[in-house]
Amino acid sequence: MAGTLRVIEEKCTGCGACVSACPYGCITLVEGKATIDEGCCQLCGVCISACTEGALELLEAAKEFEDKSKYKGVMVVAEQRRRKIHRITYELLWIGRKLADKLGEELTCVLIGKDVRKYAKGLVRRGADKVLVYDDERLEILREDPYADVIVDAVKAGMPSILLMGGTSFGRALAPVIAARLKTGLTADCTGLDVDEEGNLIQTRPAYGGNIMATIVCKEKRPQMATVRYKVMKEAEEDPNREGLVMERNIPANLRDRTRVLKEKRVIKEGQSIEDAEIIVAGGRGLRAPEDFKLLEELANLLGGTVAASRSVVDKGWMPKSRQVGLSGKTVRPKLYIACGISGAVQHLAGMKDSEVIVAINKDPSARIFDYARFGAVGDLYEIVPEMIKILKEIKR
Ligand code: FAD
Repeated sequence: MAGTLRVIEEKCTGCGACVSACPYGCITLVEGKATIDEGCCQLCGVCISACTEGALELLEAAKEFEDKSKYKGVMVVAEQRRRKIHRITYELLWIGRKLADKLGEELTCVLIGKDVRKYAKGLVRRGADKVLVYDDERLEILREDPYADVIVDAVKAGMPSILLMGGTSFGRALAPVIAARLKTGLTADCTGLDVDEEGNLIQTRPAYGGNIMATIVCKEKRPQMATVRYKVMKEAEEDPNREGLVMERNIPANLRDRTRVLKEKRVIKEGQSIEDAEIIVAGGRGLRAPEDFKLLEELANLLGGTVAASRSVVDKGWMPKSRQVGLSGKTVRPKLYIACGISGAVQHLAGMKDSEVIVAINKDPSARIFDYARFGAVGDLYEIVPEMIKILKEIKR
Protein backbone atom coordinates (compact mmCIF):
# COMPACT_ATOMS: atom_id res chain seq x y z
CA MET A 1 0.00 0.00 0.00
CA ALA A 2 1.34 3.48 -0.81
CA GLY A 3 0.18 6.99 -0.12
CA THR A 4 -0.44 9.13 2.92
CA LEU A 5 -2.63 8.52 5.92
CA ARG A 6 -4.88 11.45 6.77
CA VAL A 7 -6.99 12.18 9.84
CA ILE A 8 -10.37 13.72 9.02
CA GLU A 9 -10.51 16.03 12.01
CA GLU A 10 -14.28 16.66 11.90
CA LYS A 11 -14.89 12.93 12.29
CA CYS A 12 -12.19 12.15 14.87
CA THR A 13 -13.72 11.82 18.37
CA GLY A 14 -10.35 11.22 20.04
CA CYS A 15 -11.46 7.77 21.23
CA GLY A 16 -7.91 6.41 20.88
CA ALA A 17 -8.93 3.17 19.10
CA CYS A 18 -6.38 3.88 16.35
CA VAL A 19 -3.65 4.59 18.94
CA SER A 20 -3.97 1.16 20.49
CA ALA A 21 -4.51 -0.54 17.10
CA CYS A 22 -1.36 0.83 15.45
CA PRO A 23 1.23 -2.00 15.57
CA TYR A 24 4.09 0.48 15.11
CA GLY A 25 3.07 3.04 17.75
CA CYS A 26 2.92 5.85 15.19
CA ILE A 27 -0.34 7.48 16.37
CA THR A 28 -0.76 9.70 19.42
CA LEU A 29 -3.60 11.90 20.64
CA VAL A 30 -2.78 15.60 20.50
CA GLU A 31 -5.42 17.96 21.82
CA GLY A 32 -8.00 15.20 21.59
CA LYS A 33 -7.33 14.32 17.95
CA ALA A 34 -5.38 11.44 16.40
CA THR A 35 -2.01 12.60 15.09
CA ILE A 36 0.11 10.47 12.78
CA ASP A 37 3.89 10.44 12.77
CA GLU A 38 4.38 10.21 9.00
CA GLY A 39 8.00 9.16 9.23
CA CYS A 40 6.97 6.21 11.37
CA CYS A 41 3.71 5.19 9.60
CA GLN A 42 4.03 2.03 7.47
CA LEU A 43 0.62 2.57 5.82
CA CYS A 44 -0.46 -0.89 6.97
CA GLY A 45 -4.09 0.26 7.26
CA VAL A 46 -4.79 -1.44 10.61
CA CYS A 47 -5.90 1.89 12.14
CA ILE A 48 -8.39 2.48 9.31
CA SER A 49 -10.13 -0.80 10.12
CA ALA A 50 -10.05 0.00 13.86
CA CYS A 51 -11.65 3.45 13.49
CA THR A 52 -15.42 3.11 13.76
CA GLU A 53 -15.91 6.80 12.92
CA GLY A 54 -14.32 6.56 9.47
CA ALA A 55 -11.92 9.34 10.52
CA LEU A 56 -8.85 7.93 8.80
CA GLU A 57 -8.24 7.66 5.08
CA LEU A 58 -5.43 6.68 2.82
CA LEU A 59 -4.70 9.27 0.17
CA GLU A 60 -2.89 8.70 -3.13
CA ALA A 61 -3.38 4.96 -3.02
CA ALA A 62 -6.78 5.53 -4.57
CA LYS A 63 -5.22 7.78 -7.20
CA GLU A 64 -2.65 5.15 -8.11
CA PHE A 65 -5.45 2.60 -8.27
CA GLU A 66 -7.00 4.60 -11.12
CA ASP A 67 -3.75 4.49 -13.08
CA LYS A 68 -4.03 0.73 -13.58
CA SER A 69 -5.50 1.24 -17.04
CA LYS A 70 -2.12 2.45 -18.29
CA TYR A 71 -0.69 -1.03 -17.79
CA LYS A 72 -1.35 -3.85 -20.24
CA GLY A 73 0.12 -7.20 -21.11
CA VAL A 74 2.44 -9.71 -19.55
CA MET A 75 6.23 -9.34 -19.53
CA VAL A 76 8.65 -12.13 -18.68
CA VAL A 77 12.38 -11.77 -18.15
CA ALA A 78 14.46 -14.37 -19.99
CA GLU A 79 17.37 -15.68 -17.97
CA GLN A 80 20.69 -16.67 -19.48
CA ARG A 81 23.79 -18.21 -17.97
CA ARG A 82 27.07 -18.15 -19.85
CA ARG A 83 25.21 -17.03 -22.97
CA LYS A 84 22.82 -19.98 -22.87
CA ILE A 85 19.11 -19.60 -22.20
CA HIS A 86 18.16 -21.00 -18.78
CA ARG A 87 15.18 -23.36 -18.99
CA ILE A 88 13.20 -21.30 -16.45
CA THR A 89 12.71 -18.91 -19.38
CA TYR A 90 10.61 -21.47 -21.26
CA GLU A 91 8.53 -22.10 -18.14
CA LEU A 92 7.95 -18.35 -17.76
CA LEU A 93 6.89 -18.20 -21.40
CA TRP A 94 4.45 -21.07 -20.84
CA ILE A 95 2.68 -19.46 -17.89
CA GLY A 96 3.08 -15.97 -19.38
CA ARG A 97 1.35 -17.09 -22.58
CA LYS A 98 -1.52 -18.62 -20.61
CA LEU A 99 -2.06 -15.43 -18.62
CA ALA A 100 -1.75 -13.19 -21.69
CA ASP A 101 -4.28 -15.30 -23.61
CA LYS A 102 -6.72 -15.19 -20.71
CA LEU A 103 -6.37 -11.41 -20.55
CA GLY A 104 -6.44 -11.10 -24.35
CA GLU A 105 -3.20 -9.12 -24.19
CA GLU A 106 0.40 -9.34 -25.47
CA LEU A 107 3.27 -11.39 -24.08
CA THR A 108 6.63 -9.60 -24.14
CA CYS A 109 9.96 -11.20 -23.29
CA VAL A 110 13.01 -9.21 -22.18
CA LEU A 111 16.30 -10.74 -23.32
CA ILE A 112 19.46 -9.42 -21.64
CA GLY A 113 23.12 -10.38 -21.97
CA LYS A 114 26.07 -10.42 -24.31
CA ASP A 115 25.75 -12.10 -27.74
CA VAL A 116 22.20 -13.18 -26.92
CA ARG A 117 20.27 -11.56 -29.79
CA LYS A 118 20.50 -14.85 -31.71
CA TYR A 119 18.04 -16.34 -29.19
CA ALA A 120 15.31 -13.75 -29.76
CA LYS A 121 13.48 -15.58 -32.54
CA GLY A 122 13.55 -18.79 -30.49
CA LEU A 123 11.70 -16.96 -27.72
CA VAL A 124 9.06 -15.87 -30.25
CA ARG A 125 8.73 -19.50 -31.36
CA ARG A 126 8.16 -20.41 -27.70
CA GLY A 127 5.25 -18.00 -27.34
CA ALA A 128 6.43 -14.37 -27.04
CA ASP A 129 4.62 -11.79 -29.20
CA LYS A 130 7.48 -9.36 -28.78
CA VAL A 131 11.07 -9.67 -27.63
CA LEU A 132 12.98 -6.65 -26.29
CA VAL A 133 16.70 -7.30 -26.76
CA TYR A 134 19.39 -5.64 -24.63
CA ASP A 135 22.64 -7.04 -26.00
CA ASP A 136 25.79 -5.48 -24.59
CA GLU A 137 29.09 -6.71 -23.21
CA ARG A 138 28.44 -4.90 -19.92
CA LEU A 139 25.53 -7.27 -19.43
CA GLU A 140 27.52 -10.47 -19.90
CA ILE A 141 27.72 -11.42 -16.22
CA LEU A 142 24.56 -11.43 -14.13
CA ARG A 143 24.62 -8.54 -11.65
CA GLU A 144 21.73 -6.78 -9.96
CA ASP A 145 22.69 -3.17 -10.75
CA PRO A 146 22.83 -3.12 -14.56
CA TYR A 147 20.13 -5.77 -14.96
CA ALA A 148 17.75 -3.77 -12.75
CA ASP A 149 18.40 -0.64 -14.84
CA VAL A 150 17.62 -2.53 -18.01
CA ILE A 151 14.47 -4.23 -16.73
CA VAL A 152 13.13 -0.94 -15.32
CA ASP A 153 13.76 0.56 -18.78
CA ALA A 154 11.84 -2.34 -20.39
CA VAL A 155 8.92 -1.89 -17.97
CA LYS A 156 8.76 1.83 -18.70
CA ALA A 157 8.75 1.07 -22.43
CA GLY A 158 6.19 -1.74 -22.28
CA MET A 159 4.06 -0.77 -19.21
CA PRO A 160 3.10 -4.40 -18.51
CA SER A 161 0.39 -5.19 -16.01
CA ILE A 162 2.24 -8.35 -14.97
CA LEU A 163 6.02 -8.85 -14.71
CA LEU A 164 7.34 -12.38 -14.15
CA MET A 165 10.87 -13.47 -13.35
CA GLY A 166 12.47 -16.82 -12.57
CA GLY A 167 12.55 -18.02 -8.98
CA THR A 168 16.21 -18.90 -9.46
CA SER A 169 18.92 -17.62 -7.13
CA PHE A 170 19.55 -14.68 -9.49
CA GLY A 171 15.88 -13.94 -10.12
CA ARG A 172 15.17 -13.96 -6.41
CA ALA A 173 18.00 -11.51 -5.75
CA LEU A 174 17.10 -9.21 -8.64
CA ALA A 175 13.29 -9.07 -8.40
CA PRO A 176 13.13 -7.21 -5.05
CA VAL A 177 15.52 -4.56 -6.39
CA ILE A 178 13.19 -3.97 -9.34
CA ALA A 179 10.05 -4.06 -7.18
CA ALA A 180 11.56 -1.42 -4.89
CA ARG A 181 12.52 0.76 -7.86
CA LEU A 182 9.03 0.46 -9.37
CA LYS A 183 7.42 0.87 -5.94
CA THR A 184 5.26 -2.17 -6.46
CA GLY A 185 4.57 -5.43 -4.66
CA LEU A 186 6.35 -8.72 -5.29
CA THR A 187 5.39 -12.30 -4.49
CA ALA A 188 8.40 -14.59 -4.40
CA ASP A 189 8.55 -18.22 -5.44
CA CYS A 190 5.02 -18.67 -6.78
CA THR A 191 3.83 -22.19 -7.50
CA GLY A 192 0.57 -21.16 -9.15
CA LEU A 193 -0.57 -18.11 -11.15
CA ASP A 194 -3.91 -17.09 -12.61
CA VAL A 195 -5.85 -13.90 -13.34
CA ASP A 196 -9.31 -12.90 -12.11
CA GLU A 197 -12.03 -11.03 -14.05
CA GLU A 198 -10.55 -7.68 -13.04
CA GLY A 199 -7.13 -8.60 -14.38
CA ASN A 200 -5.60 -9.07 -10.93
CA LEU A 201 -2.84 -11.64 -10.77
CA ILE A 202 -3.77 -14.43 -8.37
CA GLN A 203 -0.46 -15.57 -6.93
CA THR A 204 -0.21 -18.82 -5.00
CA ARG A 205 2.78 -19.86 -2.93
CA PRO A 206 3.51 -21.96 0.15
CA ALA A 207 3.67 -19.90 3.34
CA TYR A 208 4.64 -20.53 6.96
CA GLY A 209 7.17 -23.21 6.04
CA GLY A 210 4.75 -24.91 3.67
CA ASN A 211 1.97 -25.33 6.24
CA ILE A 212 -0.49 -23.33 4.16
CA MET A 213 -0.85 -22.25 0.55
CA ALA A 214 -1.29 -18.47 0.47
CA THR A 215 -3.12 -16.60 -2.28
CA ILE A 216 -1.72 -13.11 -2.76
CA VAL A 217 -3.20 -10.30 -4.84
CA CYS A 218 -1.56 -6.96 -5.58
CA LYS A 219 -4.67 -4.86 -6.22
CA GLU A 220 -3.37 -1.33 -6.19
CA LYS A 221 0.06 -1.30 -7.77
CA ARG A 222 1.32 -2.12 -11.22
CA PRO A 223 3.12 -4.03 -12.55
CA GLN A 224 2.14 -7.02 -10.46
CA MET A 225 5.45 -8.78 -9.88
CA ALA A 226 6.11 -12.42 -9.13
CA THR A 227 9.01 -14.81 -9.26
CA VAL A 228 8.04 -18.31 -10.38
CA ARG A 229 9.42 -21.44 -8.79
CA TYR A 230 11.64 -23.41 -11.15
CA LYS A 231 10.24 -26.70 -12.50
CA VAL A 232 6.70 -26.02 -11.35
CA MET A 233 5.32 -24.79 -14.67
CA LYS A 234 5.53 -26.68 -17.95
CA GLU A 235 7.95 -25.55 -20.65
CA ALA A 236 6.50 -23.66 -23.63
CA GLU A 237 6.99 -25.77 -26.73
CA GLU A 238 8.50 -24.46 -29.96
CA ASP A 239 6.17 -23.62 -32.82
CA PRO A 240 8.42 -23.19 -35.89
CA ASN A 241 5.74 -21.14 -37.67
CA ARG A 242 5.17 -18.62 -34.90
CA GLU A 243 6.03 -15.03 -35.76
CA GLY A 244 6.58 -12.01 -33.56
CA LEU A 245 8.43 -8.77 -33.21
CA VAL A 246 12.09 -8.53 -32.19
CA MET A 247 13.13 -5.06 -31.01
CA GLU A 248 16.70 -4.05 -30.21
CA ARG A 249 16.69 -1.58 -27.32
CA ASN A 250 19.35 0.95 -26.44
CA ILE A 251 21.10 0.32 -23.17
CA PRO A 252 20.01 2.96 -20.64
CA ALA A 253 22.52 5.79 -20.23
CA ASN A 254 24.62 5.77 -17.05
CA LEU A 255 24.13 2.06 -16.49
CA ARG A 256 24.75 1.47 -12.80
CA ASP A 257 27.39 -1.05 -11.85
CA ARG A 258 28.68 -0.97 -8.31
CA THR A 259 30.14 -4.48 -8.27
CA ARG A 260 33.17 -5.88 -10.05
CA VAL A 261 33.36 -9.60 -10.71
CA LEU A 262 36.97 -10.67 -10.20
CA LYS A 263 36.49 -14.40 -10.55
CA GLU A 264 33.63 -16.84 -10.99
CA LYS A 265 33.58 -20.12 -9.13
CA ARG A 266 30.90 -22.75 -9.56
CA VAL A 267 29.61 -24.08 -6.25
CA ILE A 268 27.41 -26.66 -7.90
CA LYS A 269 29.15 -28.41 -10.77
CA GLU A 270 27.52 -28.49 -14.21
CA GLY A 271 24.83 -31.16 -14.30
CA GLN A 272 24.76 -31.58 -10.52
CA SER A 273 21.84 -29.34 -9.67
CA ILE A 274 18.89 -31.53 -8.77
CA GLU A 275 16.44 -29.28 -10.65
CA ASP A 276 18.27 -29.88 -13.93
CA ALA A 277 18.97 -33.59 -13.40
CA GLU A 278 17.20 -36.04 -15.70
CA ILE A 279 17.75 -38.93 -13.31
CA ILE A 280 17.52 -38.64 -9.53
CA VAL A 281 18.15 -41.26 -6.88
CA ALA A 282 16.67 -39.93 -3.65
CA GLY A 283 17.16 -41.25 -0.14
CA GLY A 284 15.06 -40.86 2.99
CA ARG A 285 14.84 -41.99 6.57
CA GLY A 286 14.99 -45.60 5.37
CA LEU A 287 18.77 -45.09 5.23
CA ARG A 288 20.54 -46.05 8.43
CA ALA A 289 23.58 -43.78 8.27
CA PRO A 290 24.82 -40.73 6.30
CA GLU A 291 27.59 -42.74 4.65
CA ASP A 292 24.93 -45.01 3.13
CA PHE A 293 24.24 -42.24 0.62
CA LYS A 294 27.41 -43.58 -1.10
CA LEU A 295 25.30 -46.54 -2.18
CA LEU A 296 22.74 -44.22 -3.77
CA GLU A 297 25.55 -42.17 -5.31
CA GLU A 298 26.97 -45.28 -6.95
CA LEU A 299 23.57 -46.11 -8.44
CA ALA A 300 23.09 -42.49 -9.57
CA ASN A 301 26.53 -42.42 -11.22
CA LEU A 302 25.86 -45.63 -13.12
CA LEU A 303 22.60 -44.15 -14.41
CA GLY A 304 24.17 -40.77 -15.20
CA GLY A 305 22.07 -39.07 -12.53
CA THR A 306 22.43 -37.30 -9.23
CA VAL A 307 21.46 -37.80 -5.59
CA ALA A 308 18.69 -36.01 -3.68
CA ALA A 309 17.03 -36.43 -0.30
CA SER A 310 13.88 -36.09 1.75
CA ARG A 311 13.72 -33.40 4.41
CA SER A 312 14.09 -35.85 7.29
CA VAL A 313 17.67 -36.68 6.29
CA VAL A 314 18.48 -33.06 5.36
CA ASP A 315 17.32 -32.02 8.83
CA LYS A 316 19.74 -34.57 10.29
CA GLY A 317 22.56 -32.92 8.36
CA TRP A 318 23.17 -35.96 6.16
CA MET A 319 22.61 -34.04 2.94
CA PRO A 320 22.80 -30.33 2.12
CA LYS A 321 19.59 -28.32 1.88
CA SER A 322 20.29 -27.77 -1.85
CA ARG A 323 19.50 -31.48 -2.34
CA GLN A 324 16.15 -31.45 -0.54
CA VAL A 325 13.13 -32.31 -2.67
CA GLY A 326 9.72 -31.07 -1.59
CA LEU A 327 7.55 -28.19 -0.54
CA SER A 328 10.21 -26.50 1.54
CA GLY A 329 12.98 -27.75 -0.76
CA LYS A 330 13.24 -27.92 -4.54
CA THR A 331 10.74 -29.01 -7.16
CA VAL A 332 12.09 -31.54 -9.64
CA ARG A 333 10.69 -33.12 -12.81
CA PRO A 334 13.29 -35.67 -13.91
CA LYS A 335 12.71 -38.42 -16.42
CA LEU A 336 13.40 -40.96 -13.69
CA TYR A 337 13.02 -40.53 -9.91
CA ILE A 338 14.07 -43.47 -7.72
CA ALA A 339 12.81 -43.00 -4.16
CA CYS A 340 14.71 -45.20 -1.69
CA GLY A 341 13.33 -45.47 1.84
CA ILE A 342 10.99 -42.51 1.38
CA SER A 343 7.42 -42.86 2.66
CA GLY A 344 5.76 -40.34 0.31
CA ALA A 345 4.61 -37.58 2.67
CA VAL A 346 2.55 -34.88 0.91
CA GLN A 347 5.32 -32.34 1.39
CA HIS A 348 7.80 -34.64 -0.36
CA LEU A 349 5.35 -35.56 -3.13
CA ALA A 350 4.76 -31.86 -3.81
CA GLY A 351 8.34 -31.63 -5.05
CA MET A 352 8.57 -34.74 -7.24
CA LYS A 353 5.15 -36.12 -8.18
CA ASP A 354 5.40 -34.74 -11.73
CA SER A 355 8.53 -36.77 -12.50
CA GLU A 356 8.09 -38.78 -15.70
CA VAL A 357 8.73 -42.21 -14.15
CA ILE A 358 8.79 -42.80 -10.40
CA VAL A 359 10.33 -45.94 -8.97
CA ALA A 360 9.78 -46.62 -5.26
CA ILE A 361 11.82 -48.93 -3.06
CA ASN A 362 10.27 -49.35 0.36
CA LYS A 363 9.88 -52.23 2.77
CA ASP A 364 6.37 -51.11 3.76
CA PRO A 365 3.88 -52.18 1.05
CA SER A 366 1.35 -49.61 2.31
CA ALA A 367 3.77 -46.66 1.93
CA ARG A 368 2.06 -43.78 0.12
CA ILE A 369 4.91 -43.39 -2.36
CA PHE A 370 3.67 -46.56 -4.12
CA ASP A 371 0.43 -44.74 -5.09
CA TYR A 372 2.55 -42.42 -7.25
CA ALA A 373 5.15 -44.91 -8.50
CA ARG A 374 5.03 -46.49 -11.96
CA PHE A 375 7.29 -49.28 -10.64
CA GLY A 376 7.60 -50.38 -7.05
CA ALA A 377 9.84 -52.78 -5.21
CA VAL A 378 8.65 -53.87 -1.77
CA GLY A 379 11.72 -54.82 0.21
CA ASP A 380 14.91 -53.73 1.92
CA LEU A 381 16.77 -51.03 0.00
CA TYR A 382 20.03 -52.47 1.32
CA GLU A 383 19.32 -55.61 -0.72
CA ILE A 384 17.59 -54.06 -3.74
CA VAL A 385 19.96 -51.15 -4.48
CA PRO A 386 23.16 -53.31 -4.48
CA GLU A 387 21.35 -55.74 -6.79
CA MET A 388 20.48 -52.88 -9.18
CA ILE A 389 24.11 -51.71 -9.08
CA LYS A 390 25.32 -55.23 -9.85
CA ILE A 391 22.97 -55.60 -12.83
CA LEU A 392 23.89 -52.17 -14.22
CA LYS A 393 27.60 -52.97 -13.95
CA GLU A 394 27.03 -56.21 -15.82
CA ILE A 395 25.10 -54.42 -18.56
CA LYS A 396 27.87 -51.81 -18.87
CA ARG A 397 30.66 -54.34 -19.01
P1 FAD B 1 9.71 -41.41 6.73
O1 FAD B 1 8.38 -40.84 6.55
O2 FAD B 1 10.12 -41.78 8.11
O3 FAD B 1 9.79 -42.68 5.79
C1 FAD B 1 10.86 -43.57 5.78
C2 FAD B 1 10.42 -44.73 4.89
O4 FAD B 1 11.51 -45.60 4.74
C3 FAD B 1 9.26 -45.56 5.48
O5 FAD B 1 8.21 -45.60 4.52
C4 FAD B 1 9.85 -46.93 5.70
O6 FAD B 1 8.94 -47.98 5.43
C5 FAD B 1 11.00 -46.93 4.72
N1 FAD B 1 12.12 -47.81 5.11
C6 FAD B 1 12.72 -47.91 6.32
N2 FAD B 1 13.77 -48.74 6.24
C7 FAD B 1 13.81 -49.17 4.97
C8 FAD B 1 14.66 -50.08 4.27
N3 FAD B 1 15.72 -50.66 4.86
N4 FAD B 1 14.41 -50.30 2.97
C9 FAD B 1 13.35 -49.74 2.33
N5 FAD B 1 12.53 -48.87 2.95
C10 FAD B 1 12.76 -48.60 4.25
N6 FAD B 1 9.65 -33.48 3.56
C11 FAD B 1 10.36 -33.51 2.41
O7 FAD B 1 10.84 -34.57 2.01
N7 FAD B 1 10.57 -32.37 1.70
C12 FAD B 1 10.08 -31.16 2.07
O8 FAD B 1 10.31 -30.17 1.39
C13 FAD B 1 9.29 -31.11 3.27
N8 FAD B 1 8.75 -29.95 3.67
C14 FAD B 1 7.97 -29.94 4.80
C15 FAD B 1 7.35 -28.75 5.18
C16 FAD B 1 6.54 -28.75 6.30
C17 FAD B 1 5.86 -27.48 6.70
C18 FAD B 1 6.36 -29.91 7.07
C19 FAD B 1 5.49 -29.91 8.29
C20 FAD B 1 7.00 -31.08 6.70
C21 FAD B 1 7.81 -31.12 5.57
N9 FAD B 1 8.45 -32.28 5.17
C22 FAD B 1 9.13 -32.32 4.01
C23 FAD B 1 8.49 -33.48 6.03
C24 FAD B 1 7.49 -34.55 5.63
O9 FAD B 1 6.26 -34.30 6.25
C25 FAD B 1 7.99 -35.94 6.07
O10 FAD B 1 8.24 -35.93 7.45
C26 FAD B 1 9.25 -36.39 5.35
O11 FAD B 1 9.11 -36.23 3.97
C27 FAD B 1 9.52 -37.85 5.67
O12 FAD B 1 10.72 -38.23 5.11
P2 FAD B 1 11.00 -39.75 4.76
O13 FAD B 1 10.00 -40.26 3.78
O14 FAD B 1 12.44 -39.85 4.41
O15 FAD B 1 10.84 -40.46 6.18
